[in-house]
Amino acid sequence: MEQKLNKISQFDFKEGHYVAEDGVVMWCFDKRLRKNGLDFLENYLKLGFDFVSIASGGLSRLTSGDEGSIKFVLEEVGKSVKLHKSPTIILTAHNNCGDFGGVIDANFYIEKLDEGERKLKELAPGIKIRKFFIDFDAIYEVN
Ligand SMILES: [Zn+2]
Repeated sequence: MEQKLNKISQFDFKEGHYVAEDGVVMWCFDKRLRKNGLDFLENYLKLGFDFVSIASGGLSRLTSGDEGSIKFVLEEVGKSVKLHKSPTIILTAHNNCGDFGGVIDANFYIEKLDEGERKLKELAPGIKIRKFFIDFDAIYEVN
């Protein structure tokens, strides 16, 4: 075992269970968003959250109409709900997302967020959803 492990960093990883009281954040893996996005989430969502980082935060899959893609997103969300009691799904979309062909249009993403919300509510009635749009210079909560 010793030959297999080469320590490159040290930190405290707390053993045990936690509750993602703020919910599960669905976030695009786009590197441009990572530092500002994680800083924002850590400061804005103070109770704790799970973080699922996949292309377009899963929004393209969720709104694709493809059953397998939708199932994949639901499984990720479902695991957060099951394992960490996430009470809320936090959908996010960002401008210029490559998973939507790099479209630059806030209204396009707001419509996709609304569509994703409708799909989730259809499949999981009663689920609480919040939506964020990440523009080039700010993050907005979408009503
Ligand atoms: Zn993206």
